[in-house]
Amino acid sequence: MQPFSFVQAKNASGAIGAVSDAAGASFFAGGTTLLDLMKLDVIAPTRLVDINNLPFSKIEVGSERVTIGANVRNSDLASHPAIRQGFPALSEALLSGASAQLRNMATTAGNLMQRTRCSYFRDLSARCNKRNPGAGCDAISGVNKNHAVLGTSEQCIATHPSDMCVALVILDATVQTQLPDGTTRLIPIGDFHLMPGSTPHMETALEHGELITHIHLPIVSLARRSHYLKVRDRASYEFALASAAVAVTTEGGVIAEARVGLGGIATRPWRSLEAETALIGQPASDATFLAAANAALAGARPQQHNAFKIGLAKETLMIALQQVTKGNN
Ligand code: SF4
Repeated sequence: MQPFSFVQAKNASGAIGAVSDAAGASFFAGGTTLLDLMKLDVIAPTRLVDINNLPFSKIEVGSERVTIGANVRNSDLASHPAIRQGFPALSEALLSGASAQLRNMATTAGNLMQRTRCSYFRDLSARCNKRNPGAGCDAISGVNKNHAVLGTSEQCIATHPSDMCVALVILDATVQTQLPDGTTRLIPIGDFHLMPGSTPHMETALEHGELITHIHLPIVSLARRSHYLKVRDRASYEFALASAAVAVTTEGGVIAEARVGLGGIATRPWRSLEAETALIGQPASDATFLAAANAALAGARPQQHNAFKIGLAKETLMIALQQVTKGNN
C-alpha cells in the first residue's frame, strides 16, 4: 500500500475543499470497496478525507418524498419501516447484497460509488482499460462468465456490481450533491452511472471533489408494488449473475404501470424501457412477461462464457414479474 494522508472533515465544505485541491484525494466513508482496492494497489489515493462525521446520517420521511442521507448505512436503510413498506425492492436489494457485517459499514453513497468486481481490474498483471486507460481489456479474450451482456463496448465489458442501484433506477431516485463552488445539483439516477464507451475509467457523472449528500425517493403507489429478485452462485455474500427489480400496478388484470431494472448483466444499473413498453396495457400473464423479457434482452451481446446470462436474466425477470403481480389483480 502507498503512503497517504488522512483528514477528518468537520463539515461538507471542508471535506469538498480537502478533496478538490488534490488530484489524488478521495472521500472516505464505510471504506468497504476503497480499502480493498488500496490494499491491492489498484488505487492509491494520496489523501483520504473522512466524511463519517458529516450530518448525512438521517432518513427523513416527508409527504412527497423520502430523503436518505449519504452516510446512512445499508443495514439501517434496509430495515427502516418507510423503506420496507414504501419501497420493498430497495430493502430487498440491500439485504441481498454483501454480508451483514459489510452492510453495517457500507453507506448509501458508497454503494452508489461501488467499483466493478471484474477480476482483471483487480489484477495488476492484467490489461485493463478501466484501471489503465488505453492498456487493453484482458476480460474480452479471457474468462468472462461474470461479465456484462448489455451496455458493453469494445473497451470494457465489466458488470456493475450494485444491487441497491438496480432498485433505485426503477424508483426514480435523484442524487443530490454539493460541488466545489458551493452550489448543489440534482442528478437523476439514470444519468448518474455512465456507460463504458471509449472511456471506461469514467464511471459516474460526478466531478472531482463533488460530494454526494442525499438521495431522494418520490413517494408513489407504484413503489409500494416493487420487488427485487437476485440469482447467484451461492445464497449469500455473492454478486448477482442476474437480478431484476420490478414495480407493477394492475387494473382489472391489465398492467397500468410498470418499471423494470436489471442487474448482474449490464455495465451500469440497467433500466429497460423496452420491457416496460411490452408490459403496459397488456394482461398480467406469462405470455406478457415472456414478451417483456425478450424485449429486455433483445440487445444483449454475449461473450465466450456468459451467453447463459441471457436466458437466466429472462427467467429471473419473468419470475420477478409473476411474484410482484401475484394477488395484484
Ligand atoms: Fe478492465 Fe473493463 Fe476489461 Fe474488466 S472488462 S479488464 S474492468 S476494461
